[in-house]
Amino acid sequence: MHFQRLRLSGFKSFVDPTEFRIEPGLTGIVGPNGCGKSNLLEALRWVMGANSAKAMRAGGMDDVIFAGSGKRPPRNHADVTLTIDNADRRAPAAYNDHPVLEVVRRIDKGAGSTYRINGKEVRARDVQLLFADASTGSNSPALVRQGQISELIAAKPQNRRLILEEAAGVSGLHSRRHEAELRLRAAEANLSRLDDVAQELEGGLNRLRREARQAERYKKLSAEIRALQGAVLHARWNEARLAAERLREEAAQAARAVEETARAAAGATAAAAKAEEALAPLRDAEAVAAAVLGKLAIDKDRIEREGEALAAEVARREAEIVRLDSDRARETQMVEDARAALARLAEDLEGLEAAVAEAPERIPELQAALTAAEAARAQADAEVERLAAELAAEEAR
Ligand code: ATP
Repeated sequence: MHFQRLRLSGFKSFVDPTEFRIEPGLTGIVGPNGCGKSNLLEALRWVMGANSAKAMRAGGMDDVIFAGSGKRPPRNHADVTLTIDNADRRAPAAYNDHPVLEVVRRIDKGAGSTYRINGKEVRARDVQLLFADASTGSNSPALVRQGQISELIAAKPQNRRLILEEAAGVSGLHSRRHEAELRLRAAEANLSRLDDVAQELEGGLNRLRREARQAERYKKLSAEIRALQGAVLHARWNEARLAAERLREEAAQAARAVEETARAAAGATAAAAKAEEALAPLRDAEAVAAAVLGKLAIDKDRIEREGEALAAEVARREAEIVRLDSDRARETQMVEDARAALARLAEDLEGLEAAVAEAPERIPELQAALTAAEAARAQADAEVERLAAELAAEEAR
């Protein structure tokens, strides 16, 4: 792999397109301080995939773009092209079709770098690997910058090993091994993820199988249910048909019954009219009977009232009888008393008559006493008679 040309445009102090030809043999660059000799070496490192701004003697990677000068405005992009002779076809298989490899790196302000190999866009890693396989690269110890010799003498064993590995041509293998390990780890991670996914899918498959079985069972049961529903509906339809026929028959019977009933109703209406006619005298009789009944009710009330009055009268009379009994007893006593008094008066009269006979001088006095006694006797007789009449009247009542 032989570097043929380095073309710069907008890179650091090389604002205009500049071509640096590297001919077979020894090529040297001569110039005053600050003319841009180191910028060329940095352009070489940069196009080979350098990713350290510090190695470019810049604060950030955008600083490699021409920043302007007193006479020239700044640029927004820079690109460096390295042309490599591939006549011996020792480039990686992917780029080995061409006799010349053209590696381009371009940077746009604020947008980062892009790489192309023979016009095809590639990753920075692809460019770095291309040069690593050829035992060179942006960090190759073959590229010696100012002051680097003294740094190499004082370098750590690790850095010296890098120099030796590059001299043995195995530094590319290290890079490839590292990349292969990364890929392997990524593949292992993918595999374990695939295992998880496979397990999930297996679980999903089992679930789907279960659901499929359930769906099959559901379909079968649905068909059975539909068949049974059809049978039930047919049986119901049959029942309904028979019921309809029965109802039609019943309706016909009912219609006949209605006709008969209508006829009977007509007969009954006629009979009712006749009965109505016959009812008139009965109604009159009923009115009379009602009047009689009313009168009888009034009489009954009256008789009841009279009965009550008579009962009261009877009670009163019975009480009166009791009273009269006592009166009669009393008056009988009085009659007896009057008779006894009469007897006594008779005795007195006999005594007086005897006295009159015995003493004529006392005749007027005795006559007066006799008259008084007869008057008393007459009075007593009258009283006896009155009492006897009264007693007889009471007894009669
Ligand atoms: P020496 O022999 O002293 O090492 P040199 O020839 O190697 O010098 P360089 O260091 O390559 O020179 O170049 C430095 C020059 O590049 C300076 O003049 C600096 O102004 C210029 N330069 C660096 N970066 C830029 C930039 N981004 N834009 C414009 N000019 C730049």
